[in-house]
Amino acid sequence: MNCPKCSAEFETISFNDIEVDRCTGCKGLWFDVLKKDDLLKIKGSESIDIGVKQVGESYRDMRKIQCPKCSRPMLPMVDKDQFHIKYETCVDCFGTFFDAGEFRDLKERSVLERFAQMLGTLRTHI
Ligand SMILES: [Zn+2]
Ligand SMILES: [Zn+2]
Repeated sequence: MNCPKCSAEFETISFNDIEVDRCTGCKGLWFDVLKKDDLLKIKGSESIDIGVKQVGESYRDMRKIQCPKCSRPMLPMVDKDQFHIKYETCVDCFGTFFDAGEFRDLKERSVLERFAQMLGTLRTHI
């Protein structure tokens, strides 16, 4: 499988037995359906996002890409809480592509949110 942005090969990495494909060139991340959500829940999973944020940013606005799995045009998406996180989703296989640094960003934010939720729950119990 080749990267839809820089055409380099993907390598398969795994974190807690969840396999993810990472581009050997731009270090973008490819998640099969639901794997992103599974990984977001696991502590330390941001370590798979080893890319340089600036490199990821240079590819961020490249949005007309094709799914590396089914070659269909991918849909540009924006994270509902963090508008600067722009990723692409395939409407066929529901795989998602994240530029380097974006998963880390998303993860940090979701940890903060969970913490806020936890505080909220605590507050209602006091
Ligand atoms: Zn790439
Ligand atoms: Zn696809």
